[in-house]
Amino acid sequence: EKFDLKDVLLEVIDELEQKAEKRDVLIRFYYDKDKTFFTTADRDKIFRVSQNLISNAIKYNHDGGEVEVRLTSNKNQQVVEVKDNGKGIPPEDLKRIFERFYRVEKSRSREKGGTGLGLAIVKHILEAHKSKISVSSTVGKGSIFSFSLPAEKEKKKEEE
Ligand code: ATP
Ligand code: MG
Repeated sequence: EKFDLKDVLLEVIDELEQKAEKRDVLIRFYYDKDKTFFTTADRDKIFRVSQNLISNAIKYNHDGGEVEVRLTSNKNQQVVEVKDNGKGIPPEDLKRIFERFYRVEKSRSREKGGTGLGLAIVKHILEAHKSKISVSSTVGKGSIFSFSLPAEKEKKKEEE
């Protein structure tokens, strides 16, 4: 189905706002307000991907931290970036966080709750959309997760 990614991200952020406030984490959402960000994908599943990434960015942030969600588009793609300034992920863990049940620092993660499935689901959903998840992270500085989906023209007159 066709939808505007901006609307999905606004909904997810709205839903996670309380959780962020409890930790005194500020969520900023950057996108060009004059633009639309249409794509064709399974909306519920992309909602889930966004929810997992943004909820991780809150959960693994420090109190008073910030989460930046950035939506941009290039010629063919809508690009979503979720950036946090939390503790970051060591390089040796980075390649394993997409495995089911894999968690960095087991005890610490357990304290925070969850099952260690979020990113495995993210990866699975994006692969089913012929897309993928990218991550870059620096210990002590934070992480950036990103994915892209095909850009769709706003109007498809010939289909109406
Ligand atoms: P669930 O998502 O099922 O509630 P979870 O958050 O532990 O549990 P994942 O979302 O799959 O599971 O993440 C796997 C692990 O990767 C986490 O336990 C955490 O150690 C690490 N991780 C994920 N996102 C971040 C992040 N933004 N910053 C630092 N570490 C992260
Ligand atoms: Mg998670």
